Amino acid sequence: MNHSCLSCRPGPDRVVDHQAKVVNLSQHFRGPPTSGNGGVAAGLYACLGAGALMNEVAQLSVRLHRPIPLKTDLDFHIEQTEASKVDVSVRHSEADVLSGWVSSAIQEPLMEDETLSELRNHAVLSPEQQDRFDRYVEVPGPSSIDFAECFVCGPDAKLGLRLRMRPVTDQIFWRDWHPDHRWADDGFLAALPAIAALDCTSAAGFHLNGVLDQNESCLLGTYDAQLGPSPPINNSGGLRIISRTREREGRKIFTDIGLFSPNGTAHVLGKATWIVVSPEVAKGT
Ligand SMILES: [Zn+2]
Ligand SMILES: [Zn+2]
Repeated sequence: MNHSCLSCRPGPDRVVDHQAKVVNLSQHFRGPPTSGNGGVAAGLYACLGAGALMNEVAQLSVRLHRPIPLKTDLDFHIEQTEASKVDVSVRHSEADVLSGWVSSAIQEPLMEDETLSELRNHAVLSPEQQDRFDRYVEVPGPSSIDFAECFVCGPDAKLGLRLRMRPVTDQIFWRDWHPDHRWADDGFLAALPAIAALDCTSAAGFHLNGVLDQNESCLLGTYDAQLGPSPPINNSGGLRIISRTREREGRKIFTDIGLFSPNGTAHVLGKATWIVVSPEVAKGT
């Protein structure tokens, strides 16, 4: 295996040890206060798949079975099911923490064309949308208080991405992003932060849009990602995270989200299923 990336090279952001066959999330990769971030979990699947597949990772799918223990060695198991596809599970004490697959071929398009164009249409904002973004003042709420140190969205996460989304229309939540050089992999944005950036950012509008009541919260259930070309880290125009809630069916909420360049190139497309739970369950208390 000659795969090497930010997630498996020795360093502060290493999460995968291919030789020892374990993954281990350090404290700064938390989502809820005491467990791992679901987006990071999906991101590390790109590294696990890349270590096992002949060609570049094109798609992955991850299901989260239970809170991901932090600072704990978790065994991973990889099984080749097709020439271009592997099943991957991550376990703790024999119980599945994560399960899913990684493929170097597109299994089926992640999103309908219509959804993709709607997201892509916001790669550049109209003056009215930019104005709405600029004027938006976030009121502190459960996502900024209960998840203050979440790797992806936590406003107090010193080693995190601190991605706070804002509405630019009644449906679309948006954020520009200039990734720090910490997240570079050979001059390009590494897969783990690129995939993780589309985790809780996809849930940012739930309370504002009334998809969740004030006494409800949610946990990531599944995350599917489709990978396009990695953006150069020195992309002076920055990147855009563009999200839209699709629908809520009972206790499940479905969202579509993408990481784009201003020219409309899709670097990562994400599709998440969120499970409605009480705020206490979401926080892990
Ligand atoms: Zn790797
Ligand atoms: Zn978050």
